[in-house]
Amino acid sequence: MEMIERGLSEEQRMMRESCRAFVDDVVTPFIRGNWQREWLMDPGARLPREILERADRIGIRTLGVPEAFGGVQLDAAAEVRTFAVIAEEIARGDSGLADKLVQNWKVAVLLRNFAPRHLQEKWLTKLVSEPGFLLAHCLTEPRGASDRWLPYNVPEAAMQTRATESRDFWIINGRKQFISNGYDAGLFVVYANTDPKVGMLQGTSSFLVPRDTPGLTIARCNETIGCRFMNNGELVFEDMRVPKDHLLARGDALGKAGIYFRPGKIIQAAKNLGVGMAAYERTAEYVQHYVQGGRILIKHQAVALRVADMATRLTAVRSLVREAALAVDANAPDADALCNMAKVFASEEVLKVAQHAMELHGGNGAMLDFGVEKLFRDASIFLHMDATADISRLKIVKAMFPRTAGAYAGPEN
Ligand SMILES: Cc1cc2nc3c(=O)[nH]c(=O)nc-3n(C[C@H](O)[C@H](O)[C@H](O)COP(=O)(O)OP(=O)(O)OC[C@H]3O[C@@H](n4cnc5c(N)ncnc54)[C@H](O)[C@@H]3O)c2cc1C
Repeated sequence: MEMIERGLSEEQRMMRESCRAFVDDVVTPFIRGNWQREWLMDPGARLPREILERADRIGIRTLGVPEAFGGVQLDAAAEVRTFAVIAEEIARGDSGLADKLVQNWKVAVLLRNFAPRHLQEKWLTKLVSEPGFLLAHCLTEPRGASDRWLPYNVPEAAMQTRATESRDFWIINGRKQFISNGYDAGLFVVYANTDPKVGMLQGTSSFLVPRDTPGLTIARCNETIGCRFMNNGELVFEDMRVPKDHLLARGDALGKAGIYFRPGKIIQAAKNLGVGMAAYERTAEYVQHYVQGGRILIKHQAVALRVADMATRLTAVRSLVREAALAVDANAPDADALCNMAKVFASEEVLKVAQHAMELHGGNGAMLDFGVEKLFRDASIFLHMDATADISRLKIVKAMFPRTAGAYAGPEN
């Protein structure tokens, strides 16, 4: 059964078809035929360059980059919905590949809104012209991640990474962890505390940091449980000198990051849906052919019920992702709550779908060369990306009740 994506424009439908063909003809055969490749301990060797080049040829590597810089201009009124549709399709083939590509889209949106024109031109043109070029967005650090999205707008919860202003440069010291594309990106957006006396909503600034900036060290590539074709990295900054014009937002960078996070949450949920769809499609095929007890699996009612449960959960996720994407595109007042709902709901529902897939594949579900366990591993990562499940729920209630749930539970003023 194909799940119908309702209300797509002609352009969205065509992009989806060409992306689906790329996934079916290139990505899925590569993943199925090279299941050992994600375990190579040389991160740079895992994903063949050709895959990014093929993605580039169909125009899905540089969504979000303005046409003026050679990118693929999407209809602004439906941009986030288009991101969602394409992210789902890529993740249906491989979630790590999708992670790699969507960081480019999300950071490109940030750059086109906040970077000075000459730096947009420099970096977005480079992104378009080099198929292997990647972008990264660096917020998380060892002593702060989830909490910064809570109502704790107090100095003690601020970022430990510090930026101080000198005559010609900003000087940044600190470290970032768990960063998507952190190991191999050519350009990073880095958040740092520029005013330790105030809360983080007023004291956090963001900077553009090219990979060859003196004082920047890529400390390691994390070996993750899933999405392994995206190289997640750790960065250290030691007296890192960033030119003055590389400042993107001064003081209010966390608020401005909404321009990255709202589409970002939709894209996360959509990638997650893609993983769920892959689990569902593999399982739907398997239960129609694999015979146990003299009958194909789907003839056993317990199996059929699980397939129904998978389809129901995926349809619910799809509906919520569509609703939330429409809200973000329309800049609706409930967009914040909806995109957090879509992200957290997708992460828990799709994990359950992937569990059904593993169980319905029996022993085969546990074998690396069969490839179904990979979907379970990939699904598990979404619980932690772009905020944990609990923090996402706190953000939802905070958006709904800003004056009570959204206020710090410290001493009353
Ligand atoms: C694959 C992957 C890719 C990622 N990519 C990026 C990226 O590109 N850029 C980036 O900046 N980050 C990235 N992250 C980091 C991600 O956003 C964080 O892992 C996530 O926000 C959780 O933060 P943490 O790991 O520090 O967990 P912690 O904040 O240490 O949380 C640990 C537990 O404590 C709970 N908790 C923490 N603080 C509170 C609180 N105040 N109140 C209630 N409960 C609390 C959490 O819910 C969680 O259950 C990535 C992570 C992964 C796994």
